Amino acid sequence: MARFQVVGATVADGSGRDPANVSVTVEDGRIAGLGPGSASGERLDADGLTMTPGLIDAHVHLGLASPIEPQFSFRLSVAELAADIFATAGSALDAGFTTVRDTGGIDGGVVSTIAKGKVRGPRVLSCGPVQCQTGGHGYYGAEWEPTELWNSHHIPGLCALSMQSGNANELRSNVREAFRRGASFLKLCVTGGVVSAHDQLTDTQFTVEEIAVAVQEAAARGTYVTVHAHNNEGIRNAIEAGVRCVEHGTDIDESTAALMADRDVALVPTFAVVEHLLRDTARTGLDESIRERVQGVRERMAGALAVAKEAGLRIGLGSDLIGPAQHRRGEELTLRANLETPMEALVAATKTNAEILGLSGEVGVLAPGAQADLVLWNGNPLEDPRLFSDPANAVVVVQAGRVVKDLR
Ligand SMILES: [Zn+2]
Repeated sequence: MARFQVVGATVADGSGRDPANVSVTVEDGRIAGLGPGSASGERLDADGLTMTPGLIDAHVHLGLASPIEPQFSFRLSVAELAADIFATAGSALDAGFTTVRDTGGIDGGVVSTIAKGKVRGPRVLSCGPVQCQTGGHGYYGAEWEPTELWNSHHIPGLCALSMQSGNANELRSNVREAFRRGASFLKLCVTGGVVSAHDQLTDTQFTVEEIAVAVQEAAARGTYVTVHAHNNEGIRNAIEAGVRCVEHGTDIDESTAALMADRDVALVPTFAVVEHLLRDTARTGLDESIRERVQGVRERMAGALAVAKEAGLRIGLGSDLIGPAQHRRGEELTLRANLETPMEALVAATKTNAEILGLSGEVGVLAPGAQADLVLWNGNPLEDPRLFSDPANAVVVVQAGRVVKDLR
């Protein structure tokens, strides 16, 4: 299928413009044009369907696709972990996500195996292991475990959740190691976390000087640092050190938002994971005590989103789903649509996420020259955003001009 036209769909191109009835021509994996279309050539009939760009999830954990506590207590075989990771990659495509940014947990081998087409999955940009301070967020070992033992939970080529650094020099060697293993950006944990056994949400982690070491190493490779951060102190440390993006941002206040706007630091809020943890902690394979830490996060994160919008921040979209139930990735758009508008949720998941990933104009948009990544939705998710949640509504998914799902 080197060249074909998708005809009859209502097309929302990812820019935020009003949807229009146009034909979309795909040629050699890219979008050749949008317009009236021609009568000849191969046609994909999309009457009654709504077309959007392939969605982008800017915060995924493909490497946390199994029940979490069993994974980190050596109770699952490498075969089972690999099966869960690849099944989760396929389910992202099925939910309409053709590009994801993995914010910690897979090793480079997963990225290249999907890119070679050996298993189904979206385009993956990965930070490899998360960088955390010794015992900080991202460390899931037992308290009794010697620090050195943590890296034995890594499975070379498959998964590596985090690397611990006790000081700036260790962090420098760990981020170089992450790049060696295929990372295309870096992620540091600069505050405590919700899914964390050894810290509090109010903790800051890493010093400004330490974070700056990672920023320097990323800049040397033409890339950037994003940070896991919930509280304002940690976010301010990270901004001062020069990071480009903040994940979660649960407690962002007006002055922090103003600082982020001033330095052009993006925000990726993560609502779906919070819903999942509140609804069913056990299913993720985590201890019930995590529920207590999640209480209140949903409301605070919604408040931070409003403050960030007011400040004019670049706001992407990420589900942060963890554990075995990651098939309803589009729920993040439904949740955001309820806090904003369906169109704002779509633009966050397409155009804005592409900007955050450094892929602006390449993905997240239906425009001539872009990758032909597109989804045909049953009905109109801009009128009923609940449609985004159920993969059954992503009737056709096209990735780089190839039909990778077709329920017609
Ligand atoms: Zn995460």
